Amino acid sequence: MQAPRLIIIGGGPAGLTAAIYGARAGMAVTVLERMSAGGQMALTPDVENYPAWTRVEGFELASRMEAHARSLGAEIIYTNATGIEVSENRARAVITDGGRLEAAAVIAAMGVERKKIGCEGEQEYAGRGVSYCAACDGRFFAGKTTAVVGGGDAALEDAAYLAGLGCDVRLIHRRDTFRGGRLLESRVRALPNVKLELQQTPLAIRGGKTVESLELRHMATGAVKSLPVSAVFAAVGVTPMTALLEGLVPLTASGHVEAGEDCRTPVEGLFAAGDIRQKPLYQIITAASDGAAAAQEAARYAQAAWSPK
Ligand code: NAP
Repeated sequence: MQAPRLIIIGGGPAGLTAAIYGARAGMAVTVLERMSAGGQMALTPDVENYPAWTRVEGFELASRMEAHARSLGAEIIYTNATGIEVSENRARAVITDGGRLEAAAVIAAMGVERKKIGCEGEQEYAGRGVSYCAACDGRFFAGKTTAVVGGGDAALEDAAYLAGLGCDVRLIHRRDTFRGGRLLESRVRALPNVKLELQQTPLAIRGGKTVESLELRHMATGAVKSLPVSAVFAAVGVTPMTALLEGLVPLTASGHVEAGEDCRTPVEGLFAAGDIRQKPLYQIITAASDGAAAAQEAARYAQAAWSPK
């Protein structure tokens, strides 16, 4: 008998862990990835809170997870998933740019993308000094004055990474307390080449062909000033990529899937895992944990629904 097919949409830590667990549970696993495996993890310069690794580049962790999944027979297809076919309240297939793929079960693990700051000049200078990935673009600005906008883990990590590249970093945050981890915050605060610009919000990004300055407004006083910078790295939070699931499963106001720890959705055979699921902690390890739980549930479901009667 053919193994039931598990289709996983998204090749981040949730999707790749689901692939490992799904393959080990005897399913024929296909991971659909629109860009490169690893998701946000692969764009993280240094990961320092994944057990067994005191420090590892996000890209390396992603490559190892991908190799692990492939070693168990998981197939990774680089394509864009455009729809999930549901009939009689069961997930039946995934529609991709390359065609329709039938599935015994589907795990949605599309992850998140970085939000835009929403200030003047941001769109105009995207790719010309405005970046949403310090790990990808930081080296182009090594040794230069760069701004990082945000006050969460991503902004603190980006600031530390850029400081390590010899940049003079201006960390712009709209409040005076950070949202990110304490240890990381104190490390960033101690870096001589990171200057904090607290209670400041970006008004405009200006320049010629490329970014030359960032205009800020003080949240309390309203005072406006301009910082000469060569690049602006936006780290102002993330949005779950759940457009595919709209109308299929309940989503929160922020676009996250309302699903429990077992990652089940109200649609039979459709599971939601990783950063797209509403939960208290968004980390690589909690995404991986979701992937394991979702694959376990998917295997149980497929076995019950697809075994010959
Ligand atoms: P986040 O935790 O949501 O932080 C976003 C930051 O951007 C906040 O400080 C927010 O300010 C600020 N912000 C939002 N909109 C803004 C705007 N328009 N202009 C200026 N500032 C704005 O996002 P994140 O850092 O991307 O992290 C997302 C999730 O992934 C979090 O749960 C985080 O813990 C997790 N993560 C973990 C790690 C790690 O553990 N190593 C690394 C990266 C991400 P306020 O604080 O005032 O709201």
